[in-house]
Amino acid sequence: MSSWNALQEELKLWAQSGQVPTMWWRDDDAQQDSSNLRKLSQLSLDYQLPLHLAVIPKGVSSDLQNVFADNSRIMALQHGYNHNNYAAIGKRKCELGDDRPITKVIQPLTSGLAQLSHLLGQAFAPVLVPPWNRLSTKIPPCLADLGFVGLSTLGPRSDRLLCGLTQVNVHIDIIDWKQRRFAGETRALEQMIHHLSARRLGLVDADEATGLMTHHLAHDSECWVFCQQLFEFLQAYPVNWLSAEELF
Ligand SMILES: [Zn+2]
Repeated sequence: MSSWNALQEELKLWAQSGQVPTMWWRDDDAQQDSSNLRKLSQLSLDYQLPLHLAVIPKGVSSDLQNVFADNSRIMALQHGYNHNNYAAIGKRKCELGDDRPITKVIQPLTSGLAQLSHLLGQAFAPVLVPPWNRLSTKIPPCLADLGFVGLSTLGPRSDRLLCGLTQVNVHIDIIDWKQRRFAGETRALEQMIHHLSARRLGLVDADEATGLMTHHLAHDSECWVFCQQLFEFLQAYPVNWLSAEELF
């Protein structure tokens, strides 16, 4: 059975159980307007999908405002502060880890939050997306006081609420980072089917929307083709793509 057929089967099982799968879309590493970002925005416009853009505050360009002005379905989230790696050599990359004193981590997050809300206003939701999808356990307890309402990393969430923040993660990474290219239909769709079936069977939080993660600046042509094929394919099914307002 092809991966597309397997996805079709999974969606049929959802339909048989009388449920509509929820999904959401997060794209990371935006800092400025670019042709790739415009391509991404066009997909959101073509398929009428809410698009959540994790924006890096440091060095963010004011031309990003134009992208938001042209597509009201885009909402910005905060992607750390500078996307620098502070982890020791040999350790997994991390901006918001235990490698620096907590105040050194928190202060930039606070200024990043102010920067993005000033630049993007209502198009910004105070949701933290840690670079590389990881952060120190010391950070979440500080975030609500800073004004954050949500947190988004990778993999099924353990709980909906964490230290007063709503957690909504992503579950499908379409890129093979070692090769820095499209992960392939099989791997991309397997991740999706895996999360959908785990939700349906109650093995993970069934209420967590299945999250598609993309990285517009790292897309090769196959990534773009896959995104379009997936959105096209899902149009035939009752899938509910959620917006930041509904998610967080
Ligand atoms: Zn990133």
